[in-house]
Amino acid sequence: MPFAEEKKKTIYHSCNLTRHSLTLPLSPPPPPTMSNISSTPLPLDRKCSLALIAPLEAILFDIDGTLCDSDPLHYYAFREMLQEVGFNGGIPITEEFYSEHFSGKNNEYLCSTVFHDWDLQTARKFLDDKEAMFRRLAAEQLEPVKGLDKLRKWIENQGFRRAAVTNSPRASGELMISSLGLSDFFEILVIGVECTRAKPFPDPYLKALETLQVSHKHAFIFEDSVSGVKAGVAAGMPVVGLGTRNPETWLTDAGATFVIRDFEDPKLWEALEELERKAEATTVAT
Ligand SMILES: [Mg+2]
Repeated sequence: MPFAEEKKKTIYHSCNLTRHSLTLPLSPPPPPTMSNISSTPLPLDRKCSLALIAPLEAILFDIDGTLCDSDPLHYYAFREMLQEVGFNGGIPITEEFYSEHFSGKNNEYLCSTVFHDWDLQTARKFLDDKEAMFRRLAAEQLEPVKGLDKLRKWIENQGFRRAAVTNSPRASGELMISSLGLSDFFEILVIGVECTRAKPFPDPYLKALETLQVSHKHAFIFEDSVSGVKAGVAAGMPVVGLGTRNPETWLTDAGATFVIRDFEDPKLWEALEELERKAEATTVAT
């Protein structure tokens, strides 16, 4: 476990009602589509509660950092392989450098930024090899975020639809889902780079809704990165942030409804119980 000592403590806080009170829109936002995605702010209540999406129909999950804390494995693979090719004069990259330049970024983005002065073919080959190293590590060492099994059972019992939506390459996404024992749980896997635009654009989440045939009004998202939260908010859905790696303020500033430390967090289960109560009340009333 060469990376175990590098794990950070999780960071989590509660929903900030005061800050969001300044963002109440004058009129309800239009439903999000591929063309009006940049102007779909959520109403106040939806920003601080999941209750308004009752009855819930679907839950959409990011993978890296949300289902599993995979960043230490990505960091280890990048650090070892970059040192091997003499990047940064052969000095290993720091975790801070990794967080700033690599974490949550898709490989095509990395080709045009960190590796912009590399030959494109060389950069793509390097990133493919790095993903292969990540998959070897993940197959042996990947662990689910605490409480994931409890949440999975709850979702299955309720019969909600579910999708995994990631910026990772397909092979890595499939490997992580399989390693976590979730191959039968997810109905679909949406890959960011297979969409017109990856996260932070909403396209991958809109594609998931379209494939599941579920409205954004009855779904929410779990995400751990700023890029992912922005993608989910732009797709018109509440996003529950996972404080696996990133500070709570980064996620709430990006639009997260609230932030939890893991899937055992009482804050999450209170919100889900509130959703259940609202759905029951709606059923009784109709
Ligand atoms: Mg993530």
